[in-house]
This record gives sequence, C-alpha cells and structure tokens, in this order.
Amino acid sequence: MQGTVYKSTGSWYTVKSQQGDFYECRIKGKFRIKGIKSTNPVAVGDEVTFEVETKGDETIGVISGIEERENYIIRRSVNLSKQTHIIAANIDIAFLVITLNNPPTFTTFIDRFLVTAEAYHIKAVLLFNKIDTYTEEELLEVKYLAALYRNVGYECLGISAKTGKNVEKVKQLMQHKVSMFSGHSGVGKSTLINAIEPGLNLKTSEISEQHQQGQHTTTFAEMFDLSFGAQIIDTPGIKGFGVVEMEKEELGDYFPEFFAIKNQCKFNNCLHLEEPHCAVKEGLENETIAWSRYKSYLQILEGEDEQYRKDIHNP
Ligand code: GDP
Ligand code: ZN
Repeated sequence: MQGTVYKSTGSWYTVKSQQGDFYECRIKGKFRIKGIKSTNPVAVGDEVTFEVETKGDETIGVISGIEERENYIIRRSVNLSKQTHIIAANIDIAFLVITLNNPPTFTTFIDRFLVTAEAYHIKAVLLFNKIDTYTEEELLEVKYLAALYRNVGYECLGISAKTGKNVEKVKQLMQHKVSMFSGHSGVGKSTLINAIEPGLNLKTSEISEQHQQGQHTTTFAEMFDLSFGAQIIDTPGIKGFGVVEMEKEELGDYFPEFFAIKNQCKFNNCLHLEEPHCAVKEGLENETIAWSRYKSYLQILEGEDEQYRKDIHNP
C-alpha cells in the first residue's frame, strides 16, 4: 500500500493510507537514503510503501520503500557526530508570521528564513499579523515591507488572527497543501492556527525558548488533517527551520532578485562585495535592490549566523 507518514516516534511510524486509514508501522530492516547521514530514515511527510501484517488481532504495517522527496528540512544533532535529523519532508508552504513591534521581527530574521526556504526548495509566504493594532504610520511600514518582498517574488498578506481579517485567504493558500508555520514567540501563531482550525491544539508554541536552549530534547514533528482539506505540520521545539550549510558562492542564488541579475556581474563568481561592475551593487544604487536585503546578505555571508546558531545551542 501507499501512504503518508503522519507521526514518528523514532521506532514507530503512523502512516495514513491512500484509503484514509491509519496504520502503526515499523521499518523493514535498515534502509539508508543515499547521501543523507540521518538518524531517522523516514520522516513525517514522507510518502511510503508499506505492507500490512496481521498477527492474532494485531495489525501492523511494515514500511518497505520511500518515494523521492520534494524537499525536507533537517536539524543537525547537537553532539559532534555530524548526524542530521530529518524533521519533515514534502512541505508545500512555509508561512512566516511577522509582527512589526510586538514582538519585533527584523528584516534580517525574515531574510534568513527566506534564504533557508530557498535552499530547501520550499515556497515561503509572509503573513504580517496583528494589523488590527497598527497606527497609520505602522501600516505604511507594513505596506512598504510587503511591497519589498512582493517585488522579490514572495506572496505577502496582512492579517489579523484576532479579528479574522484575511484568515480565509490564508486557508485558501493552504488548501490541498502541507503547511508549516514559523515566527518568533508571541507573533500570534497559536491564535492564527486556532482561527484557521478551532480546537486544534498544536504544540508549536508551548515549548518555551528557554527550554529549547537548555536541553536537547528529541521532539518529533506531527502532521494533522484540517477540516477544509489541508494538512499542517507541527514542529514542537523547533525554532524556525534552521540554517542550511552552504558555500559562500551559493548564498546569492537564494536571494532571487540577486540571482536574476547575476549574469550581468562582470565576474561569474561575483560575491557582490568589492568586485568591479557588480549588477547587485548597481541595483542598490538605482534602488532596484533593497539595502535591507543586501545587509542581510552580508550578515549571512560573514557568518554572523553561525554565531547566532552557536549561541542558541550553547547558552
Ligand atoms: P505565538 O507565541 O506565536 O503562538 O503567539 P500567540 O498566538 O500566543 O499570541 C501572542 C499574543 O498576541 C496573544 O496575547 C494573542 O491574543 C495576541 N494576538 C495574536 N494575534 C493577534 C492579532 O492579530 N491581533 C491582536 N491584537 N493580538 C493578537
Ligand atoms: Zn555581483
């Protein structure tokens, strides 16, 4: 049979068959996936082949194969084994919930999120929440940011999880898709998810950031079916969706507006720093590229992210 993994505990996997029935499954033997040194060969969101075995009155499934993944997100283990843990696979949309000031979401944080989404090949959508609370001036700021990111090619929505404004639009985007929600603590993820699907209590926000920093608990993602024909992946204890390792030369490719013009740079390996005739630097001058994006690019390039990550894992 074919099915989708909804939950995993490390040794057991809950798989939903195409007919809509849930089976508790184990993995057949040990199968490794080429190129990934991972502690878990099968993750939530994976499409798998499994056979059902009945022993007495017990029915269990045995996973024997896995479909090629569209994408997957990983977390590196905290210890030095260099092993990775696949958090989830086959994610259609990663939503980032943003608030201007309560709490502040800085553009560097947004840009890091978008770079990661690009590197993972996951569509990202920006949700500017709490628009019911903003002053005229703040609304202008939201509009400015939304225009900036729309220009780059990202879908943006101003929403209010509290009043329900544009929540229907979020649901429309989610239809027939697998979604994930990220964002700083306090931006309104729980409120939004509750507005999308009342009664669904995800753990996403329950784990405090302090708790995450202090311990390395192995938490597992879980997928949920929503009433309007959509799926959501809950990732308890996982902040954002991590940082992907990449070569310096690659980074610019994950800024779509840089990537679009990089063949106009004089050097084909241009890092858009001090090189002559750099199309990105020219874009800054004629204001077709936003300074905030370029600043984020420099920060990530200079490895400030690395430090950021170390601080999180070694408080
Ligand atoms: P989370 O940590 O991201 O899950 O954030 P919560 O959903 O717990 O929301 C944090 C606080 O912001 C709560 O007091 C919510 O009531 C409030 N909140 C969330 N969304 C909105 C919104 O759209 N407008 C207003 N005014 N408050 C909101
Ligand atoms: Zn350049």
